[in-house]
Amino acid sequence: MKDNKKGIILSIAIFSLIIIIGILLFIRHSSSVDHETESTPSEEAIDKNWQLANDVHTPTLSHAQSTEDKQEMETFSKQYNDQIQSPSVADIAKSYAKDHQSPEDSLDDLMVDLPTIDTNDDHYILVNKLNPLKTEPNVTLTSTANGEQYAADIKSEVDQLVSDAQSAGYSLVFISGHRTIAYQKQNRENGYQSYLAAGYSIEEAEQLTDTYYAPAEASEHSTGLALDLLDSQWMQQGGSLNEDYASHPSAQWLADHAADYGFILRYPKGKEKITGYSFEPWHFRYVGKDVAKYIHRHHLTFEEFLALANYKNKLHNQ
Ligand SMILES: [Zn+2]
Repeated sequence: MKDNKKGIILSIAIFSLIIIIGILLFIRHSSSVDHETESTPSEEAIDKNWQLANDVHTPTLSHAQSTEDKQEMETFSKQYNDQIQSPSVADIAKSYAKDHQSPEDSLDDLMVDLPTIDTNDDHYILVNKLNPLKTEPNVTLTSTANGEQYAADIKSEVDQLVSDAQSAGYSLVFISGHRTIAYQKQNRENGYQSYLAAGYSIEEAEQLTDTYYAPAEASEHSTGLALDLLDSQWMQQGGSLNEDYASHPSAQWLADHAADYGFILRYPKGKEKITGYSFEPWHFRYVGKDVAKYIHRHHLTFEEFLALANYKNKLHNQ
């Protein structure tokens, strides 16, 4: 009798346990279903977004106003088409996944903290070999103590950058700021002539000029938003604008902190195929703090950022 009672109690206990587990499983399942319907887009939407990600590329010929302009710029850009890539948003996400070993949600990772911008804002002007200028950008300039000019509306950020660099022990020198298209043309011509005078053949002189002088129409310095910066100590020891500057502590400081003042290292190592320029540890470009921090955080180029920003705006409008 005693054993029988024990058996009944045990059966009730087991039965109750099964019921409780069942209830818990049901609650979990229904809440996860709710969660999915709330936050996960349909497969159709995912396909559509991925299609758009394949369609939106880094910008090209963005300054063409007329079909005539467009043809002229196309001819200019064609010289570089086999050296410079214009990746799609999908390509950018894939290469980001490769770098960060997160193949699953790389586009989501890039979108989650992407600042929303008005791509027509002058601060986001893109000038490179696939986006040449035809006319001078309209920019109000201010001067540094040593006479270099740059866009007046970024003066407070530039002053703060220089002053904080000083506090960190680095005395920055403005090597180059704003340059007009005409000036850059002359600059290139002088370079070319000096190579000829040094005994190089016409072909060699042309190649050297292309390597060391940006084409006048494709120089970001025309915007007034680009600055070439070196450290005075680096210059005193004979250093100039070359890749070795990257190893100087001031270049390291700039690479780490420029984004806090709205600047990006514009031509990073390993991204030459996208920027169209060699690594330049001295060339910084103003894009505003939010965008600069985003680009720095994700190790992107300005070109890649603009593709993502255009993608975001298009997603929003579709
Ligand atoms: Zn520069």
